[in-house]
Amino acid sequence: MSTSAASTSSQPPPPPSAAEDPDPPPQPPPPPPPPSTSSPSPSRYESQKRRDWNTFLQYLKNHKPPLTLARCSGAHVIEFLKYLDQFGKTKVHNQGCNYFGHPNPPAPCACPLKQAWGSLDALIGRLRAAYEENGGRPESNPFGARAVRIYLREVREGQAKARGIPYEKKKRKRPPVPAAPPPAEGGGDGASGSGAAVAGEGSGSGGGGGAGPS
Ligand SMILES: [Zn+2]
Repeated sequence: MSTSAASTSSQPPPPPSAAEDPDPPPQPPPPPPPPSTSSPSPSRYESQKRRDWNTFLQYLKNHKPPLTLARCSGAHVIEFLKYLDQFGKTKVHNQGCNYFGHPNPPAPCACPLKQAWGSLDALIGRLRAAYEENGGRPESNPFGARAVRIYLREVREGQAKARGIPYEKKKRKRPPVPAAPPPAEGGGDGASGSGAAVAGEGSGSGGGGGAGPS
């Protein structure tokens, strides 16, 4: 029996390898940058802040006697807030009104419209920031004056009574209200009552459900 020795002598050549390919495969292009998320407008807050600031500067300009920003005090800021009330859209009942303390009066009344406390509070926050962004010193910021804080607190308490809306929920601890829409709708043209988030119902932490029906 002759063993076929030839079988070992001729090994098949290795298959042509593609390693020597002169053209490197094209690199995949880098992924395109994600679509730019910067919105065309700066942001609602920023543009609102700019509008508020311009409104205030205009107010100073028209002030009699003329008033400069450097001489502006907390009292002037309060004056400005009162001036804005004429553009308000939130019904605030007088003490003599039958609907004093009613959140949802069944009929119209002659009580004045004012700026809702939530709008004023947000406005002061924006103006306070704008003042410092425009070179004002924090220690002389009239929007941070104590008198302004006190005024806002009085407005809040007065409107809470007049409108029957507790801005401050009871002081007991309760989970944060999930969805309170920001009151800033646009300089105070928020629909009346929008600032208040009438979340009453007391269903928050009521602790019901503990005792099941027997
Ligand atoms: Zn009224």
